[in-house]
Amino acid sequence: MSLAQGRHYLAIPGPSVIPDRVLQAMHRAAPNIYAGELIEITRSLIPDLKAIARTAHEVAIYIANGHGAWEAAVANVLAPGDRVLVLATGRFGHGWAEVARRLGAEPEIVDFGKDADIDLERVAELLAADRAHRYKAVMAVHVDTSTSVRNDIAGLRATLDAAGHPALLMVDCIASLACDRFEMDLWGVDVMVAACQKGLMTPPGLGFVFFGPRAAAAREAMARVSPYWDWKPRVDPQEYYQFFCGTAPTHHIFGLRAALDMIAEEGIEHVWQRHAQLARAIWAAAEAWGQGGPLRLNIADPWKRSHAVTSLRLGAPHGTALRDWLTENAGVTLGIGLGMAPPGDPAWHGFFRIGHMGHVNAHMVLGTLGAIEAGMRALGIDHGRGALEAAAAVCAVR
Ligand SMILES: *Cc1c(COP(=O)(O)O)cnc(C)c1O
Repeated sequence: MSLAQGRHYLAIPGPSVIPDRVLQAMHRAAPNIYAGELIEITRSLIPDLKAIARTAHEVAIYIANGHGAWEAAVANVLAPGDRVLVLATGRFGHGWAEVARRLGAEPEIVDFGKDADIDLERVAELLAADRAHRYKAVMAVHVDTSTSVRNDIAGLRATLDAAGHPALLMVDCIASLACDRFEMDLWGVDVMVAACQKGLMTPPGLGFVFFGPRAAAAREAMARVSPYWDWKPRVDPQEYYQFFCGTAPTHHIFGLRAALDMIAEEGIEHVWQRHAQLARAIWAAAEAWGQGGPLRLNIADPWKRSHAVTSLRLGAPHGTALRDWLTENAGVTLGIGLGMAPPGDPAWHGFFRIGHMGHVNAHMVLGTLGAIEAGMRALGIDHGRGALEAAAAVCAVR
């Protein structure tokens, strides 16, 4: 007997849950794109986006997903032949490097594995060895959504400074913006990319590139930037259409406006704290389950775990079996294990992820954990006792 009827919960790490308020803001007739409200609302997004990214500098908005934001960032500052140091801690670091490579840059990828963060001592050695300062940029992912590792971006900036290396610091915050604390200016980040469908709670379709003065100078020095991705007209539009290099993403603008209002009403500090506390509830449950069975958190050190997504190891074929059971019997869809094993390899079925980014509260997380426990019972997967009590205890702290 399935218990899946009721509101389905997509608990994957993006796209995230869309608040009814965002959906309702988008449910309206097409607006005029030449005059009126849409233009004012578009302008109002800019300071609010900068406030969430903690930057006083610039943000360009693209009609794009995260891959588009990746390409936009690269297109503005990296020319063919430019060398970049890419610090990979999961699938997404490799993905961004691939975009850079295909645009002609020369990425040098350092892979820190599937369950570890960036080793800053290793980065210090690489920077020291680059005496000629051939690396034009260092690219890193704040939270890699495949492994759920969270990297120390402030530490990365300190490492660049200690080495006296002038490379631009480029960071992917697609999974972390408005979930994990991120301080673009304080941490000295030159380029940051994000998208709207994760912490920003809006249907996929908007990509963002934030950039500071050093990145703006690098853009000025480029011989050529492809016209669509060029961030310059977008941050200083003489005509409204230049914001988006063409027709505006009308309904996404209304949706994002509502999402930014929700974040402002809650307060970004509170948003970060909510994500942290809900993440700790998930970790507490996972640790209890692991006492009596195969389930393990992919990232052992709590200080290096994302507050937006949790990657778990359960062993094949349990990961896939558990996901299928939850969708069919509990109305919850969990994330697949991305990049942890090659597709086609039986080991691929040993992983799953919980997305807990954006419009997520205690009952959604506790409900998901309860459904996972029911699934492990139903499937006969060994697990320790007391997981739900442990998660409830974390949620009970004010
Ligand atoms: C989701 C994600 C991406 C890719 O975004 P798309 O919208 O799927 O193109 C890139 N980087 C990170 C860290 C992500 O979480």
